[in-house]
This record gives sequence, structure tokens and C-alpha cells, in this order.
Amino acid sequence: MAVLLDTFGRKMEYLRVSVVDSCNLRCFYCSPGQACKPRSLRRQLSREHIVRAISTAAKVGIRKVRLTGGEPLVRKDIVSIVHDIAQIPGINDLSLTTNGTLLKDLASPLAAAGLKRINISLDSLDSSNFEQITCGGQLRATMDGIDAAFAAGLTPVKINMVVMKNLNHHEVERFAKLTKEKDIHIRFIEYMPMLGQDDTWRKHYLPTSEIMSLCSTVSRLEAVEQEELNGPARNFRYPEAVGILGFITPVSQHFCSNCNRLRLTSDGKLRPCLFAAEEVDLLPALESGKDLVHYYQKAALNKPANSDVSPASRGAKKGPLGMVDIGG
Ligand code: SAM
Repeated sequence: MAVLLDTFGRKMEYLRVSVVDSCNLRCFYCSPGQACKPRSLRRQLSREHIVRAISTAAKVGIRKVRLTGGEPLVRKDIVSIVHDIAQIPGINDLSLTTNGTLLKDLASPLAAAGLKRINISLDSLDSSNFEQITCGGQLRATMDGIDAAFAAGLTPVKINMVVMKNLNHHEVERFAKLTKEKDIHIRFIEYMPMLGQDDTWRKHYLPTSEIMSLCSTVSRLEAVEQEELNGPARNFRYPEAVGILGFITPVSQHFCSNCNRLRLTSDGKLRPCLFAAEEVDLLPALESGKDLVHYYQKAALNKPANSDVSPASRGAKKGPLGMVDIGG
């Protein structure tokens, strides 16, 4: 079986694919400098190009694919994209990250097309706070999407909450308590400083140590063993609870030594790391029908040993673009 190694011996097995760089919500932390502004769609790979890029990825050793964006469900052909990827030999884990607003009608077709699991972003359980963070989003739509994901068997349903001081940190316990009765994974993610966001980030960043302290006020946290090919979350559970609490620490404790990811942007650039600017452009080769293997090898060799994301160490002007641009 083919293996894709970087210079530091890490095996690349996971490809995050952004299928679109526009979104129907406008969370300020995701589109630095553009919050609440409409976003015009830039060039995006066709379904055929996405499928060919992933077929080659499978040949070089990628086993796990997550579709993201922007908002992947705004693409009209998303069900067909999922269907085609699910047929690719070697891809044994296919998942998707969404804000859930369009999931009510799409969860069941996506599951039928071969989607296995889903992550839904949800930063507030309070409708007016939700509206504020997302610049006008409707909490009801995402909650309906979560229900639809359960009904379609897209389990485990994982909820991503970016925890921000004085914006939603007061809701952490409420999120955590959901795991007591429901088989749901709540993943608390540290707010990362993206390009041009350093001041806002300093104001609202909350380290995982403090998020865990908030969760511990609900009940004792017991560590849960990590699964194979699992992401960077450190998982815990309350005694007797059915669901799981995950903590993701891109800032306070970056997980680069175990990173097995490459990213493909919606316009066809392979990125070795969220925080590295070196990209390999697949589009010319996709358009000319050239073999893509070499491009994956090049991207893997570009992967840095680690990326310290804090503004103090990376310098104020060198932050990455917003997640909406790269694919979160
Ligand atoms: N639209 C989809 C969604 O809302 O999940 C997929 C794309 S979104 C960029 C993917 C994830 O990135 C979301 O969970 C979002 O909260 C997270 N994200 C975006 N900007 C972030 C930041 N500055 N720090 C931490 N997480 C961020």
C-alpha cells in the first residue's frame, strides 16, 4: 500500500477538501475583515476535478477525507460529490463539516450517497447570541440540521464550538451538559488568530485549561482512549454520560508532531498546513490531465515541522487567511 511521508517521517493519511469558499453565515472569526459582508464566490474546482484529485490522493496513501468550505452544503452538487468520493477505493473514512443550516433536507441524501459522519459547527444555544456571532444566522435551522443528522444515522454527530471569552464562554457548561443524556460529541475548540485578527483574538481567546475548568464544574471529567486515525481532540466523558467532550488546542498545545493532514483549497491548491503559505497548484495539472502524484509528494515535502500560531511568535503580519478561504 502506498505511503506519503513528509520530511519528518509523518505519514499523510488525511485530506481536508474545501469544495467552496463562500458561506451562508458570516462568523467574524472565520472571515477576518469581512464579517457580515456578502462574499463573492471565487473559482472553484468542478466535481470531476475534486474526484480526480481525491482518487490520486487515495493512490498515494490518503485514507480519510473531510469535505469542508466555506459552507459545503451551498454547493448544488454536494450529494453527487459525496457519492463519487464514496466510490473511490482506499478512502475508508468520508466526513463533512457544516454549519448545519441546510442539513435538514440534505442529511438523508448525503447518508444515502455514502457520507459516514458529520461535524456541525454551533457556537451558541441562545438564538440571539447565535444570530450575533453568525451575523444573522437562525439557530433553529442548525438545530433542525442536528436532528436530521441523527435521524439519518450520521453518527457520531460531533458539534464544534469555538469558545470565545465574553462572547460564548458562559455557555460552555450548557453545551457540556448535553453529553449527559445524548450520544453526541461536543468539541471545544480554541479560537485561533487568523490574519488581521490579533487584537480581537487577544480580547476573546480562552485557553483549553480554562474551558476544561468550566466543564469540571458540571461533573468529574474522565479521560477516554483515543481511536485510531482520530483527530487532534483529547476526549473526556462525565461518569455515566453517553456523549463525549473533546478539547482541541491549536493554540495552547499545538499537535503538529502527529499531524497527518494535507488540505486542498476550493480553487485547487494543496496546502501542507493551515499556517503555511507554501501551496502547490493542482489546477493546471487537473486541466491538462497530467498525473498528480508528484504534486502530492511535493506538498508533503513542504510540510513544516510545526507552526506556532500565537501572534507573539509568528509576527503580526504573517497569519493565515481566514478559515473560510482555506477550508476549516
Ligand atoms: N461552514 C462549515 C462550518 O461552519 O462548519 C465549514 C467551514 S468552517 C471554516 C470549519 C470550522 O472552522 C468551523 O467549526 C469553525 O468554527 C472553525 N473556525 C473558523 N475560524 C476559526 C478560528 N479562527 N479559530 C478556530 N476555529 C475556527
